[in-house]
Amino acid sequence: MINTFKLEKDKWFNRLYGLKEKWCTSLSKDFFSAGILSSQRSESTNHAVGFKANKSTILTEFYSIFQATINRWRKTEEKDDFDCTRGIPTSELSMSAILKQAANVYTITLFRDFEEEFKLSVASSTMFKGSVGRTVFFEVWIEVIAGSRQEVQYKMEDSTVTCTCKNFEESGWLCFHCLRILHLHSINTIPDRYITTRWTRYAKKQIWKRVDTIKREKSEINNFTGWRLHMIRRYYNLILKGHKIAKARKFIEEKFKTDNKAVDEIIKKEEERKAKEEAAKIAEQEKAKAEAQRQTQDEESTNSEITIVVDPDRANNKGKNTAKVIITLIYQTIKKH
Ligand SMILES: [Zn+2]
Repeated sequence: MINTFKLEKDKWFNRLYGLKEKWCTSLSKDFFSAGILSSQRSESTNHAVGFKANKSTILTEFYSIFQATINRWRKTEEKDDFDCTRGIPTSELSMSAILKQAANVYTITLFRDFEEEFKLSVASSTMFKGSVGRTVFFEVWIEVIAGSRQEVQYKMEDSTVTCTCKNFEESGWLCFHCLRILHLHSINTIPDRYITTRWTRYAKKQIWKRVDTIKREKSEINNFTGWRLHMIRRYYNLILKGHKIAKARKFIEEKFKTDNKAVDEIIKKEEERKAKEEAAKIAEQEKAKAEAQRQTQDEESTNSEITIVVDPDRANNKGKNTAKVIITLIYQTIKKH
């Protein structure tokens, strides 16, 4: 497909491929799962997508359904954003430190999912399986849920917890197996590394911050935007203040002329300074280049002298110092032996 549509160098396509773990479910675990999700995840995905197209849907119908679905997602997103700004969700459970933290950082929807995992962790059973150094291994399961048994590894040094169900790697929040083991080790807050930005209330802010950083790196925007807007507002207010009085208008116009001239002067001086710097830089580079060339020439001339002495009987020195060549040959012979 890539070859057929000549996408090898397509910027958008390559970026999308680079982010494949985010949209291709078969890659969201660190083993191949063919996109098979846990039943809970699958249900929530189906619920969120709610796509009504089927095999017999024609293209135009599909487009209309797709548009309607996108509109529905956007409305839901707006509502969720609004709900998130209104306050912190509460829980029927007593708000332990970990639940309080989750309520503060996660979006409301994610908090409900997290709350479910938390409830399951309270109801789960554990069995110690062994340890290697400061790493301990447990089995965690819920009696009444078949297939819920998973192995959890916990590193005491840095509170790293991993579970064979791979819920965190797949979905971005900790499963009840991990929560249970963290609780067992008196870890009462979610370690930072297990709070993925995409599920937090500030996810959008982070995205814009990142976009700004990228743009700044590419010099597409600069750090003066804020100052510029501030000054535009100030000058606008000044004009509004004096525009009705002829004397004030004239004063502003005169001031504008002198200020404009002064700024031109500053810009000219700055450009001259930059040009000087640039010229000095180029001169420095030329000097380094000339020096390198001179060294290469010196090496070449030395090499050519040595080449001549390899076979002195047939060597043609073209007027070069024969005595020097013979001395070099003798020196090399002595050095070899
Ligand atoms: Zn798990």
